[in-house]
Amino acid sequence: MKNTAPLLSPKEYEANFAELHPPLTGISAKAEAERCLYCFDSPCTKSCPTHIDIPGFIKKISSDNLLGSAKTILESNWVALTCAKACPVQVLCEGACVYNGKKEKPIEIGRLQRYVMDNYFESGMPDLFTKAQGKNKSVGIIGSGPAGLACGAELTLLGYDVTIYESNKIPGGLNSWGIAPYKMRQKDSLKEVKMIKGLGVKIKTGIRVGEAISIDKLLEKHDAIFLGIGLSESPELKIPGENLKGVHDALSFIEEVKSEKWDEVKIGKRVAVIGAGNTAIDAATEAKRLGAEQVYIVYRRAASQMSAYEFEFILAKNDGVIFLFNSVPVKIKGKKYVKEIICKKSRLDNQAGLSLIPNSDFVLPVDMVIKAIGQKPHQDFLNSIPKLKIRNGQVVVNFKNYQTGNRKVFAGGDCINGGKEVVNAAFDGKMAARSIDNYLSASA
Ligand code: SF4
Repeated sequence: MKNTAPLLSPKEYEANFAELHPPLTGISAKAEAERCLYCFDSPCTKSCPTHIDIPGFIKKISSDNLLGSAKTILESNWVALTCAKACPVQVLCEGACVYNGKKEKPIEIGRLQRYVMDNYFESGMPDLFTKAQGKNKSVGIIGSGPAGLACGAELTLLGYDVTIYESNKIPGGLNSWGIAPYKMRQKDSLKEVKMIKGLGVKIKTGIRVGEAISIDKLLEKHDAIFLGIGLSESPELKIPGENLKGVHDALSFIEEVKSEKWDEVKIGKRVAVIGAGNTAIDAATEAKRLGAEQVYIVYRRAASQMSAYEFEFILAKNDGVIFLFNSVPVKIKGKKYVKEIICKKSRLDNQAGLSLIPNSDFVLPVDMVIKAIGQKPHQDFLNSIPKLKIRNGQVVVNFKNYQTGNRKVFAGGDCINGGKEVVNAAFDGKMAARSIDNYLSASA
């Protein structure tokens, strides 16, 4: 597409993508840690999907045992720096902190976790874990996102020979490519990749399983396979004009922005983002920060039905994003390039469901459209795996052990849940590794 938004100066781009939550200093981290009440039945720990011992790691900050604190965190979560920066802490650990009940500011758990992990990486990632004796078995992992990395780290400590196959040249999956740069930069994700490689996990990048190597070959080569392939296919809007130049899918757009070559990302002057989930919000705020003059979020339902978190909604509104609720795009118009979108107003009826209101058409003059109406895993690839069951586009697993219909294949993360948080994927990967260990130990 053509770049129609004005280019910004390098300083302006850096300011627009500067971190939303800067790091704590040593003094402020210690003061914050000392506010913690070290609750016995800590609700913060219960609300973390990876169940990090939160009072435990905070206590170690108070006693200046920062490496011990990092160990406590990593025992539960292998991508703890990413989670410290990208987790919706407001609805997870910090949302559950007892201080909320006292109408006081909750402990800044995310920033404390970041403080500990930053120190760990700055200290040169000293060894904190002992590996079990080698088991002479190998596991192939497809995808180096949070689920694959967590699974790989756990399995290698359990004594397995682990190889991760990653189609991208830069590993890290969603952590490297899908998180808005003002939350986290790619270099942070790559620190975690380096740490996990340091444990002994091999990562082969630029290898697309199904093309560079067949799934049959991997099933032959490894004793078990873990699928951590995330979501890569965007559904179509199924409206006329969808193939015009200037119509993009949100994941590819966000991936381009993550390259941090801000002035090379093509951006429209007026942008419409279709959808109102967290990915849509990221795409909209990133478009605005790249210099788009007007950015709309077009959503077919009401504000109360958005899947985006409230704090993300507020962030986008503060960035000047315009929300059009109960609005359904019915046609994208233009000769070669997008020129406008025709929308209709919608209403929701308890019995009839969502319907379009007759004669409610309105026109949005835009030169870029970003589709953010959800994603699913790569279907052709999934169909090529023998005995795998797929439901609603997602891999079916036994949630007790993450095993798929093919006993040798396990799966976790977004490809089994349709898209949750990084922290959920990290938990799945870790638990799947333990199930793989049980499966391979039983078949030894
Ligand atoms: Fe500390 Fe809050 Fe967790 Fe209690 S709930 S242990 S105060 S962080």
